[in-house]
Amino acid sequence: MRTIALIVALQADSDAVYRWNSKQVANHFCSTCGCDIYADSPAFDINGSWDGKTRKIALNARLLDNFEAADWPVTVIDGKNLW
Ligand SMILES: [Zn+2]
Repeated sequence: MRTIALIVALQADSDAVYRWNSKQVANHFCSTCGCDIYADSPAFDINGSWDGKTRKIALNARLLDNFEAADWPVTVIDGKNLW
């Protein structure tokens, strides 16, 4: 597994948040262009359990300059049946 460290600067005036259903996942998107920027969610285990405090941040890497999705491993998650 490759790990990278990123510093992402967001403008608060264009950060919009959308939550649905349980409200546990915050989807942050640009209120100007609608791009999905990142999501902040509980760090669920594969069995759906959560320790109640650890968070997971999912960044839309396709917004990064010079990012090539094909260069990275893909993990398929069965979200339909896990949550
Ligand atoms: Zn935008």
